[in-house]
Amino acid sequence: MEIQENVPLAQYTTFGIGGPADFFIAVGSKDQLIDAVEYARTNNLRFFILGLGANILIGDKGFRGLVIKNESKNHTISGFTKQGEAVLTTESGATVSDLIEETQKSGLSGFEHFAGIPSTIGGALWQNLHFLSPDRKSTVFIGDIVGNVEIILANGNIRSVDKNYFQFGYDSSILHKTKDIVLSASFKLKKESPEIIKERVQNNLTWRSEKHPEYAWRSSAGSVFKKIENFGAGRLIEQVGLKGYQIGGAKFSEKHANFIINLGSAKARDIRDLITLAQTKVKEKLGLELQTEISFVGEF
Ligand SMILES: Cc1cc2nc3c(=O)[nH]c(=O)nc-3n(C[C@H](O)[C@H](O)[C@H](O)COP(=O)(O)OP(=O)(O)OC[C@H]3O[C@@H](n4cnc5c(N)ncnc54)[C@H](O)[C@@H]3O)c2cc1C
Repeated sequence: MEIQENVPLAQYTTFGIGGPADFFIAVGSKDQLIDAVEYARTNNLRFFILGLGANILIGDKGFRGLVIKNESKNHTISGFTKQGEAVLTTESGATVSDLIEETQKSGLSGFEHFAGIPSTIGGALWQNLHFLSPDRKSTVFIGDIVGNVEIILANGNIRSVDKNYFQFGYDSSILHKTKDIVLSASFKLKKESPEIIKERVQNNLTWRSEKHPEYAWRSSAGSVFKKIENFGAGRLIEQVGLKGYQIGGAKFSEKHANFIINLGSAKARDIRDLITLAQTKVKEKLGLELQTEISFVGEF
């Protein structure tokens, strides 16, 4: 096992922010992921499983412990069931974009709804990845297509669970509480014409480029706050006058105020300060509590 020391984490997050991990390992298979977790547990090291770093803010002082960068990507597609579904089984470090490309070619529908979202399968199950349906009238969740999932429990045992285990909600799953680790997952995909899937992918990418700030994959973590029933968080930030507001090297996007953008030199602290400011102002002026969708990792 090749463990590195003192590795800067900014390069591994979409915010482009984050101090060093005391210890760092990149794992390329499910077995390596199991070994790395076991190593951390036997050595009493705190550890963190890192996907694409697209939903987290890592503190400027970094992470005390072992960061396990999950690059386990093997996957297979098995034949159709009587219901016309194919089953894709994948290791948890595969990215949604890898899987979209492959399933689109094979005429299998399910992942295309998440086109343009940076995510590994582990991160997607952690947060119940979601996006609007093709008619934009409802929300499609990754939890809708999940079959069996292999996890490591807190006690180190490996178990296969089904989607009910996850108690999926909007931006949530049981993983927030249990800290189980996803090793691999299967998904049920429907047969669809590759052209229709391709069109959905294209429509989703166009929607994103129209609504989201440019270079969001390299300067943000997507939406910072959860939406509150009937109120989009971006609108609330706009209403309290913070759209475009800047602290240090970070600001609320002019295009979509629920995105905080790293202008190039932002510190985690700048982002934290913007978050606190928005929460305070929205509470004071509108009486509503903004909660973050992103998680804070490490020391600030
Ligand atoms: C430009 C942009 C657009 C976005 N748009 C959307 C959107 O439309 N919809 C949406 O839902 N999200 C969106 N997001 C947020 C983000 O893409 C998702 O939350 C995504 O699922 C994060 O995956 P990740 O692999 O980067 O996870 P990370 O950010 O690396 O990790 C997130 C959490 O998951 C845990 N985790 C990761 N892998 C595992 C594993 N194998 N087992 C257990 N826990 C694990 C981590 O420990 C961490 O707690 C967007 C982000 C960006 C930057």
